[in-house]
Amino acid sequence: MKNKYSVIVILFALIITSCSNNDNDAVVATQINEETVIKVSLTAEELEDLLFLREEEKLARDVYLFSYEKYKMQIFKNISNSEVQHMNSVLLLLNAYNIDDPASTEIGVFNNLELQSIYNNLIEQSSISLIEALKVGDKIEDLDIKDLTINESRTDKLDILNVYSSLKCGSRNHLRSFHSQVLQNNGFYVPEFITQEEFDAIVTTSNEKCGAN
Ligand code: MN
Ligand code: MN
Repeated sequence: MKNKYSVIVILFALIITSCSNNDNDAVVATQINEETVIKVSLTAEELEDLLFLREEEKLARDVYLFSYEKYKMQIFKNISNSEVQHMNSVLLLLNAYNIDDPASTEIGVFNNLELQSIYNNLIEQSSISLIEALKVGDKIEDLDIKDLTINESRTDKLDILNVYSSLKCGSRNHLRSFHSQVLQNNGFYVPEFITQEEFDAIVTTSNEKCGAN
């Protein structure tokens, strides 16, 4: 009889303990989640990619603004407006992770020397003729899709992956728009960054609806 009581008491104690442990676990988990949201930090690769991407989106905007001023073709204005949205999506991420914005407020000025050099070359090519400016559109989107694909492999953070996915979707639509204009103007473009297969799969399909970013 005494043994039986002991077993019941022990069982009861176990139930109480396990209940109270669960409660504690829940509190600890909540605290960890709150701290994760506030204190989670970027890896060196994520930081490098976001800083570069912010200025890469600016490069697209600035080149298309240049071509719109020169040729007054609406496609350049529309897509440069879309690049402003892309720039903003990256800025929101930088803000969320408390990273200073690397982008200059001046058109055509870049803190990243590689992007400054690419910008200078693309402006030179875009100055030649409308068809060259449209091919520059193909080239920028070709490069952006490649870079975003690499970026995707360098993070597992969902907020960052969502922005990459949305920007890449936008780039595919931009590529469709530019390439149809290249063809209409009897030009041609051979992809330099993504494969011919990936390029063809994009330009032969319809525009996509991209996310809010
Ligand atoms: Mn873009
Ligand atoms: Mn684009």
